Amino acid sequence: MRPLIGDALSADELDQPPADVGSAELTPWALRELIDSNPREFRQLCLRLARWPIVTDTDTAAVAAYLRRGPMSVIDPDRGVSGELGREFQVAVGLSRRHAITFNSATNALHAAYRALGVGPGTRVAAIGYTFHATVTPILDLGGHPILMDVDPTTGNLRYDDVRRTLEANPDVQVVAMNHNWGLPCQEIQRISEFLKMRSIALVEDCSHAHGAVANGQSVGTHGTIAVFSLQGKKLVPAGEGGLAYTDEAALKSAMLLVGHNFTSTESHVVTVDESVRQTGVGGLQFRMHPLAAALARSQLRRLPAVIGNRHHNEDRLRRAFSVMPFVSFPEVPEDTRASHYACRARYDADRNDGVPIERFVAELTQLGIPVDRDRGGPLSGKTIYRQSVEVRSARFHPTRRLYTDDDLPNATRFCRDALVLPVFSRGPAVMSAVLDVITEQLQRATSGPS
Ligand SMILES: *Cc1c(COP(=O)(O)O)cnc(C)c1O
Repeated sequence: MRPLIGDALSADELDQPPADVGSAELTPWALRELIDSNPREFRQLCLRLARWPIVTDTDTAAVAAYLRRGPMSVIDPDRGVSGELGREFQVAVGLSRRHAITFNSATNALHAAYRALGVGPGTRVAAIGYTFHATVTPILDLGGHPILMDVDPTTGNLRYDDVRRTLEANPDVQVVAMNHNWGLPCQEIQRISEFLKMRSIALVEDCSHAHGAVANGQSVGTHGTIAVFSLQGKKLVPAGEGGLAYTDEAALKSAMLLVGHNFTSTESHVVTVDESVRQTGVGGLQFRMHPLAAALARSQLRRLPAVIGNRHHNEDRLRRAFSVMPFVSFPEVPEDTRASHYACRARYDADRNDGVPIERFVAELTQLGIPVDRDRGGPLSGKTIYRQSVEVRSARFHPTRRLYTDDDLPNATRFCRDALVLPVFSRGPAVMSAVLDVITEQLQRATSGPS
């Protein structure tokens, strides 16, 4: 598998505890004492160690240097700090798409992507029904008609069979939208993408959870007709706010620029923008990325390999710690697949734990200081605008769009109901090792019966 390209030096900063945790608190002795005497505090300490984003002195120096140098606006997304970010990002995550465009958010990148693909009033888009709503909501805003698809109940990701069935039932679908939930790449993306190509249906690949992830040897972002990444503060390359779109088609790049960049430059050397709308764009919208966000993203990007490496190692240790509880399972990651570890979802099987409901199991582990939680999210069928017609003056929702209940997305509903949320730790072994030892010991003690 292709290694991620990054800066080994900057990894050192992840081997320091956060400013509000002293090294003395992280010795094995202090941690054992804490979990015995005050498990709540131990849990809080874990959550402090998992806090994200991490902004280091390298990042503040990079942003300050840019602030002194400028320029403070970058109009042409191929140039300056925006152009550099667009190119560097795809090298870092192993992509080689022809065109990059920076945006001020992934939501706006998705909005421009859907418009560029011709989504308008009544256009049918088959969309993953379990994702952060921004994957799908721009379709509604354009008057499009999202058809929500259910997911694999163990991974939360789209399945080829669900896509095929949806398209057979809805032959007028023009675009399919998907997400790689929680950074575990969709295992069937290649099959899905080949199937769509045969039918000339465009794929919008929302990669906002999956920077640097690899599915079947191919980087996430390879397959989408348009692939979009978020650089929002919670994401793996946090710029505060920001988004990136990639495509191989010059016409789509041009269309996205006309939607969202008020593109007036006469110098674009990559794409010829339609002359008739060169001066104004087509929508009067302004979706360009702030250069300071791009400067921050470029600095954070250099740490991405270390962040994913640490998250992987730390999750592996948590997986092993939970192996004493056979009713807690983790999704399998095949050999040629790499997760980005945006977040961690394990599955709880109450039947295999004497019918103990998940609420009680989580409460018991919480009592013991273990940082687990339930998933408080759910599929889009739980959000009002996907459930019922709403009368909001600013809404442009298609009048006959389909509405949903949880019964329409049973697997996604089950995925969330049975999900345990575990923290992802981005810091290295120097910080995390003893903490993970103590969690492991605590889970062993919890399962070794009454003492
Ligand atoms: C965060 C996120 C978005 C939106 O990103 P912004 O940059 O905040 O607009 C879209 N899709 C998914 C899957 C996300 O997680």
